[in-house]
Amino acid sequence: MNNDLNKFFYPKSIAVIGASSKPGTLGWELLGNLMKFGYNGKLFPVNPKADAIHSIKAYKSLLEIKDEVDLAIIMLGKHLVLSSVDECNKKKVKAVIVITAGFKEVGEEGVTLEQDLIAKIKKYRMKLVGPNCMGIINTKGDVLMNGTFIKGTPVAGGIGFVSQSGALGASVLKIIEKYDIGFSQFLSIGNKADVSENETIDYWKDNPDVNVITAYLESFSDPKEFLKVCKEVTKKKPVIAIKAAKTSAGMKAASSHTGALASADTVAETLFEQSGVIRVNSVEDMFNLAKAFDRAKLPEGKRVVVLTNAGGPAILTVDEAANCGLEIAELSEKTRKKLREIVVPEASVHNPVDLLPPATAQVYGKATEIVMADENVDAGILILGPPLMFDTVEITKYISEAANKSGKCAIVVVMSQDEIIAEVAKQMPVHPPLFNSAEKAAWAISEMYKYKLYRESAEGKPKKFNVNTKGVRGIIRKYKQGGLYLDFNDVYDILNHYKMPIVETRIARNVQQSLYDANKIGFPVVAKVFGRELVHKSDVGGVALNIQDEEELINTESRIIAALKEKELDMKLEGFILQPFAKIEDGVETILGAVKDAKAGHLLMFGLGGIFVEVFKDVKFKIAPLNDVDAKAVVKAIKSYEILKGVRGKKSVDIEFIEENILKLSQLVTDFPEFTEIDLNPFVFSPNRNKSRILDARIKLG
Ligand code: ADP
Ligand code: MG
Repeated sequence: MNNDLNKFFYPKSIAVIGASSKPGTLGWELLGNLMKFGYNGKLFPVNPKADAIHSIKAYKSLLEIKDEVDLAIIMLGKHLVLSSVDECNKKKVKAVIVITAGFKEVGEEGVTLEQDLIAKIKKYRMKLVGPNCMGIINTKGDVLMNGTFIKGTPVAGGIGFVSQSGALGASVLKIIEKYDIGFSQFLSIGNKADVSENETIDYWKDNPDVNVITAYLESFSDPKEFLKVCKEVTKKKPVIAIKAAKTSAGMKAASSHTGALASADTVAETLFEQSGVIRVNSVEDMFNLAKAFDRAKLPEGKRVVVLTNAGGPAILTVDEAANCGLEIAELSEKTRKKLREIVVPEASVHNPVDLLPPATAQVYGKATEIVMADENVDAGILILGPPLMFDTVEITKYISEAANKSGKCAIVVVMSQDEIIAEVAKQMPVHPPLFNSAEKAAWAISEMYKYKLYRESAEGKPKKFNVNTKGVRGIIRKYKQGGLYLDFNDVYDILNHYKMPIVETRIARNVQQSLYDANKIGFPVVAKVFGRELVHKSDVGGVALNIQDEEELINTESRIIAALKEKELDMKLEGFILQPFAKIEDGVETILGAVKDAKAGHLLMFGLGGIFVEVFKDVKFKIAPLNDVDAKAVVKAIKSYEILKGVRGKKSVDIEFIEENILKLSQLVTDFPEFTEIDLNPFVFSPNRNKSRILDARIKLG
């Protein structure tokens, strides 16, 4: 178990350095919040000019405090922060939160200040949260710490929330009461000078107080670490995240197809997906889903029942459920009979079950019990439209009670009456998730079901192939300078060293040699321009297919040379690539590639290939190294998977062979991170693996 952040979340004593006796200041608010929320440890305000703050004794300096201090929250002016950290060291404080802003986020001067701060923390072996953050919360009964300066009272629950944006944390805390979002722990990590999202998420992995983890991120501190940590955590508890600011400068300069197809958001998207983190696009979605995970059981299957007193919302819910991949449960005859006995004659006892507006609290409660007990039902969406004559709180409580008793996944939807949600939550501490939108409830159940499947899915295993790394190293050594594409003959050798099926290729330096090579290969052949600066060969008219004989070869080559002259590119021609003309008929042209991101490392890409890759954009990315499960998933994820499996009487290509080659490429970039861009396009896969061939390839050295 990772206990590194215990001093932050479970401190026995806190010093608030920069606490203030002036109402309205952050130093006044934060100390006030700690007191109002009922902090269960010892509290020490530190302020050289005050004797008492919020009616408790204040200390002139940290060193004046006799007791041990577990956590120091610093909210001084930015130029006093470093000396304050020195004092913390003297006082042997090991956990420090710096609320103060004016560091990295303000530019050059702040960057230096932050570096100095980090250096001190390292030297003193302290842990630091912030700077430029909002503080910390732990709602657990024996801690009761609200160490933030945010207005509003935290509600207790099982959600852990780590936020990079302070402002967002604040706006969230304002809505929690209204929407019944129960936090267990909250940490605002600000500039992430030391403690990052990775460390926090990892800390919560085994923390029994946190059932579900939420994160608001603007950047990844360390994408590789994020992947590693979240892969483990998501197998234990759900992680839901928002990633704002969808930009990454990493791959802007890429000239390969793979590089061009990786968008600014590809790294984030791939990281989330590969680590099992559920990505959402709004704060509302994040907390709706989080409270569903926190308060409801995971559904065993995907069959839902919708119970309502109003037809319209039920139809929309059924549509949304189907859209999200859920099924509308077929209620058993026994269930329908039981319902009949309690509802008004006009009511519908088929799913969606419509009790109609006259339904009382007792009827709603009983109906909930009956539908949830049906063995064809895995989850329930229990909707309450505004009833005309009854007490809504009362009805909601009846529904909630029956839902609790069912032991199944259930979400209660109280439409257009948010105040009811807060009221029910207050009166009934153990209640199902209360939503204000039935469609969101359907979506949340579908995400929970997907998560259940994910958690049960097999973990992948790495696979190593026996390859010739020495051969590749030898080739790399020949290149004295980086940043360029390798010669085709070297690419050819590298692929052979990794046992990837590049088509037989000969490089001819003149026409005479072309004729010789073509005869060796056997007509029909393909001729392509060869030159370090002629990497996109079709673009310069440099690819000629299906050449039948010597005469045609001579004519074709002179025609290509003439065309290059016209574009003043003939100086770049170093020769011709000759290959057998491969019949693609029963094969599919795919692309397999890799591109290196500065922080995340290599992204592998697989998809529909050929000269139109950038038009169809039917590709899927994964971060290397991939395991066998990843490789399978990539192939399945592209839209053209159906084409690979064979449509209209065509045979399926050898899918296993695709997976094998994906793993080999993953091994290549893991062994040789200096390859920054690789395109194998087209990589033609056929039903017979022995006829599957790479027809074109380029590799760039970083
Ligand atoms: P580039 O990508 O540099 O323009 P390619 O070598 O990929 O050039 O050739 C372009 C297209 O020509 C390929 O997508 C493929 O359809 C076809 N092609 C290339 N080489 C062969 C070959 N040896 N046999 C059959 N068709 C080929
Ligand atoms: Mg190509």
